[in-house]
Amino acid sequence: MGGEYIPLSSVNIGAKEIEYVTDAITTGWISSTGRYVAEFEKELAAVTGRSCALAVTNGTVALEVVLRALGICTGDEVIVPALTFVAPAAAVATVGALPVFAEVTADSWTIDVESVANQITSKTKAIIAVDLLGHPCDYDALLAVAGNIPVIEDAAQAHGAAYKGKAVGSFGVASTFSFHANKAIATGEGGAVLTDSEELLEKMWLLANHGMTKERPYFHEVIGHNFRMTNLTAAIGLGQVQRWQELTNARNRIATIYDDCLKGVKGVYRRPVADWAMESCWLYAIGINAGKKNSVLEAFKASGIDSRSIWTALPSLSIYRDGVRGRYALAQKFSEEVIWLPTSAVMSDIQIERVVHVLRGVVG
Ligand SMILES: *Cc1c(COP(=O)(O)O)cnc(C)c1O
Repeated sequence: MGGEYIPLSSVNIGAKEIEYVTDAITTGWISSTGRYVAEFEKELAAVTGRSCALAVTNGTVALEVVLRALGICTGDEVIVPALTFVAPAAAVATVGALPVFAEVTADSWTIDVESVANQITSKTKAIIAVDLLGHPCDYDALLAVAGNIPVIEDAAQAHGAAYKGKAVGSFGVASTFSFHANKAIATGEGGAVLTDSEELLEKMWLLANHGMTKERPYFHEVIGHNFRMTNLTAAIGLGQVQRWQELTNARNRIATIYDDCLKGVKGVYRRPVADWAMESCWLYAIGINAGKKNSVLEAFKASGIDSRSIWTALPSLSIYRDGVRGRYALAQKFSEEVIWLPTSAVMSDIQIERVVHVLRGVVG
């Protein structure tokens, strides 16, 4: 069965985004000064129910600036899930601290609270919880185990999901988002931190703005960085965040169609959804049993369908071996068996059927 190439993900930039970004360009406000940064931050805070937001250059830097603002540095440990995109571990290592891995659960693939409890030591200075593949973590249990240790929510893969009715992006001392082109809300490159703490916001603002306060330019209180989002990027972001529901619904619709098409197909499995969770689809992921993953990926390739294996479990990367504490059987299993199927807000039903047809041809 032929047909045109189906990419893993595609962007959905609408008329609003083009109008705002054109305005930013024609008025000359192309760096980080300009009205769109503040408006984007305001709308992001509103959509997640947080009181403040800070727009930054990407989702990895968003994590880094929170860690720096919390004073995390060499000698400290930060617990991160063993299965995730690498950014949380990389951000921890960037500030000089050690990422220590916790196992993920079988029933949501998010960080296992019991495993977190086992990794906590006197050096543990934060926990980064990733709302993996659009599924929130069990925040009530996690926050209880964390006690006074700050929890940072990495919601980069979960725009629009909710935990017990409360939006992701609202848990822990701070939450982060990425707006990379393949995320559900996309600005190209981009990220943000959300928090309810004015004090934390102020610290992060200082770090992200060369270490100088608004009141005293060219005087530097701390060693600063330039983590600022441009007005151009924020203009796209404002248009995207105003379409939050539309864009996240469109992806969830794709997930529902995949779910229906895959019902009864043997040899594949979906990530379960906990009863307290409302998931949102980022990239639609399935596990493939019985060592057939590579055959599936090859069949997709031959049919012009872009499908990929998810991440290598972080404990198997030698650069992160110092944070390995025992075995991570589930993270390892999902890392070996799970792939993404093409997912985007603009996919047609016919494209989805083609993907499922090729998949059935191998596993069916
Ligand atoms: C995409 C992603 C990030 C941040 O990625 P950037 O490309 O730096 O914006 C962080 N954490 C997770 C879990 C992600 O999926």
